[in-house]
Amino acid sequence: MHLKTLTLRGFKSFASATTLHLEPGITCVVGPNGSGKSNVVDALSWVMGEQGAKTLRGGNMADVIFAGTSSRPPLGRAEVSLTIDNADGALPIEYSEVTISRTLFRNGGSEYAINGSSCRLLDIQDLLSDSGLGREMHVIVGQGRLDSVLSASPEERRGFIEEAAGVLKHRKRKEKALRKLEAMAANLARVSDLSTEIR
Ligand code: ATP
Repeated sequence: MHLKTLTLRGFKSFASATTLHLEPGITCVVGPNGSGKSNVVDALSWVMGEQGAKTLRGGNMADVIFAGTSSRPPLGRAEVSLTIDNADGALPIEYSEVTISRTLFRNGGSEYAINGSSCRLLDIQDLLSDSGLGREMHVIVGQGRLDSVLSASPEERRGFIEEAAGVLKHRKRKEKALRKLEAMAANLARVSDLSTEIR
């Protein structure tokens, strides 16, 4: 599996549609300060489901939409598409190439798609989680993050290792299942109360 192309349109400083072609191996993005290198990385985390505006270096999510310049008006939407080569079947989907897309409108609406078909954010997160990609996976190490890893507490370090070992995904599923069980127990208690009242 490798990332093939990343297309940004209206995302941060990328007002016009811009496609980056990523070949297998190492890709370097070089450019002067403030030219948008980190915005490319932000686009990558965003399309993979990042929900935290701060992680994307903004105050709120609408900050990812091109805000305009002296020569160009602001845009109403940000769109990012990521095409992943899935010839090795690393993603649990029957396509040798998978394109995930995310769109955010200035009025707050969002759209997600997998290979052009509308889907939920959860579908994208589920698709990517087994591959080690996706939200909360530390596959993207931002500026200053190495320092925070080095100075992390033993518990936090354990979290990183669990994530790398693929334990995190199961821990999250377990937490979700426990929440459902709790809700179910509350429902059962309610049913039991009602049946006592009826009797
Ligand atoms: P450095 O090398 O200093 O880390 P960089 O190449 O990583 O810089 P970025 O941080 O990716 O640069 O880009 C910063 C630029 O993106 C700034 O000029 C900023 O004005 C612009 N920018 C960020 N968000 C938006 C937005 N929503 N609309 C328009 N421009 C934006």
